[in-house]
Amino acid sequence: MTILIRGGTVVNADRAFRADVLTEGDRIVAVAENLEAPAHAEVIDAGGQYVMPGGIDPHTHMQLPFMGTVTADDFYTGTAAGLAGGTTTIIDFVIPDPKQRLMDAFQTWRGWAGKAAADYTFHVAVTWWDDTVHEDMGTLVRRHGVNSFKHFMAYKNAIMADDETLVKSFRRALELGAIPTVHAENGELVFQLQRELLAKGIRGPEAHPLSRPPEVEAEAANRAIAIANVLGTPVYIVHVSCAESLEAITRARARGQRVYGEALAGHLVIDDSVYRHADPEVARAYVMSPPFRSSHHQTALWQGLQGGNLHTTATDHCTFCAGQKAMGADDFTRIPNGCGGVEERMAVVWDAGVNTGRLTPSEFVRVTSTNAAQIFNIYPRKGSVSVGADADVVVWDPQGTRTISAATQHSKGDFNVFEGRTVRGIPTHTVAAGKLVFADGDLRAERGAGRYVERPAFGTTL
Ligand SMILES: [Zn+2]
Repeated sequence: MTILIRGGTVVNADRAFRADVLTEGDRIVAVAENLEAPAHAEVIDAGGQYVMPGGIDPHTHMQLPFMGTVTADDFYTGTAAGLAGGTTTIIDFVIPDPKQRLMDAFQTWRGWAGKAAADYTFHVAVTWWDDTVHEDMGTLVRRHGVNSFKHFMAYKNAIMADDETLVKSFRRALELGAIPTVHAENGELVFQLQRELLAKGIRGPEAHPLSRPPEVEAEAANRAIAIANVLGTPVYIVHVSCAESLEAITRARARGQRVYGEALAGHLVIDDSVYRHADPEVARAYVMSPPFRSSHHQTALWQGLQGGNLHTTATDHCTFCAGQKAMGADDFTRIPNGCGGVEERMAVVWDAGVNTGRLTPSEFVRVTSTNAAQIFNIYPRKGSVSVGADADVVVWDPQGTRTISAATQHSKGDFNVFEGRTVRGIPTHTVAAGKLVFADGDLRAERGAGRYVERPAFGTTL
């Protein structure tokens, strides 16, 4: 397929300029003014619109078996929803059970992801430690294009990594040229606070944020950063939700430590009043970890993005329907943790970021694709509208509006955490791997069209 995107303003992380964009097969082959349309080309009129790299969501969980159930979105429906919102690549997570070989889990997830409609790649979680984990990390980096490993510091008695696992895995990652990432919450504190709340008879969703206060997150962020500092590894902190964690990152970076931070679209715009909603079904729908925070934390997160101490925006897309969330109707610790957002992230960050003057369009591109591509080593194949890059492009109408609703979303979840929010700035066209997959509201996602993206280790190009 050949596509000419004509008359728009190309926005990359470094600059914005008037140019047409020509794609041939799965690559961008020309970016210049006044390109001739080849005879067989499909022409997209981008007049008055921005032409940007397709979004990269570096944190999703499609088809995840978690807390006794499986997420509503599988790799097909979840990636299709992403395409409708201008996201053309996801980085999902392989999460081995404790004692399960990493390679076995990796092959299982590769099988599930075969139905994806958009490109995908995996962080692999290290949830336990022995010599086979050491060996499989090597195999994953050297033979399967994995360059990031995830560590859950929360979820005690399930997938929590203890300090021994953190230290050994961070060290192994450094040796392999891979980057460790962490879910920073002190799992022991969460566990004890949950028990105390239940003992007091506080069993509803309003207890969820009480069991995971900002200090619980900050302790783990500080610990991960300290371990990384001692070992000399970089570290990437997923879903930074509070001012205290951001302060830990900011301090470390000021002393020259290579620490990266991720903000979720939800944490940027939603506050913790949702947990006090009169309808417990609605309150349960917002249960995710870390939880939504009081509003001064949102201000801090925006400042982190603006000041360059937070680098990426993600969603932690992990959808459960009301019936699944009801598993925790009498016990908030049993509510499956997770919310959606893969379809809404780009528009929400644009509306709350660019329309308010917090971000320029180039800064928007930086935090929605380019930084993720650079941190996880797939730049400029991804995260750039340039000759030779993958033909993953979103045509963005800065004046277009949409009111977000579960009734009109493509995601399989039956709830939308952004319900009723009207955003200005929406995708009109999405091109993924050179195919027009979304055009003026018409989603043409193709099951299985997504490709597994290998990400080379760092330091291997010399
Ligand atoms: Zn997650």
